[in-house]
Amino acid sequence: MRVLIAEDEMKMARAIRRGLEAEGYAVETVATGDDAVFWAKEQDYDAIVLDVGLPGRDGYAVCRALREAQIWTPVLILTARGAVEDRIEGLDAGADDYLVKPFAFGELLARLRALLRRGPAERAPEIVVGNVRIDPAAHSVTRAGVRVDLSPREFSLLEYLARRPGEVVRRSEILDHVWDYDYDGMSNIVDVYVGYLRRKLEKPFHSPVIRAVRGVGYILEPHE
Ligand code: CA
Repeated sequence: MRVLIAEDEMKMARAIRRGLEAEGYAVETVATGDDAVFWAKEQDYDAIVLDVGLPGRDGYAVCRALREAQIWTPVLILTARGAVEDRIEGLDAGADDYLVKPFAFGELLARLRALLRRGPAERAPEIVVGNVRIDPAAHSVTRAGVRVDLSPREFSLLEYLARRPGEVVRRSEILDHVWDYDYDGMSNIVDVYVGYLRRKLEKPFHSPVIRAVRGVGYILEPHE
């Protein structure tokens, strides 16, 4: 099994390398985000151990770049931060698992073994509506080939509409599926988020995609 380690702290990289080699893995190490992307595209690794805090592109950006390039090598993210938001960001970027530093080497091994057993994850195909392309696995969106950065909630909203293109999706359905069904915050939250989506997905492209059906809901329509 070949593993790529992307870690800029030499001591840490060396320790992981030695540990994995002792277990019989073939290991290569890189120390920057750009090198990680380059080698992960160039070579066929069975898994990638990816530090978040890398010089240049950080680990999340590396992961996103790989998933956008349709490279599905399992990725284990190493993060010094254990905050929920950081973990979510890693998983949203297309990582398969994460480990918070400092960790026990035994845990790294166990998680790596689990990833290798699973192999490259089966990814849901892209959803294409007109010139809007949504990649549910990589959580990425492009319109006319241009990347559109959405918050996780905006992404869920767009994905939900895109799964039923050309169909009126009721506000109450959106609320149930994109928010919790017992959501009891702002009653116009759906409209507010449709507004956010429009600002990012329509305005820069001078072309609408979301049509409001008064009193009912919204339709995502294919447009070029
Ligand atoms: Ca680092």
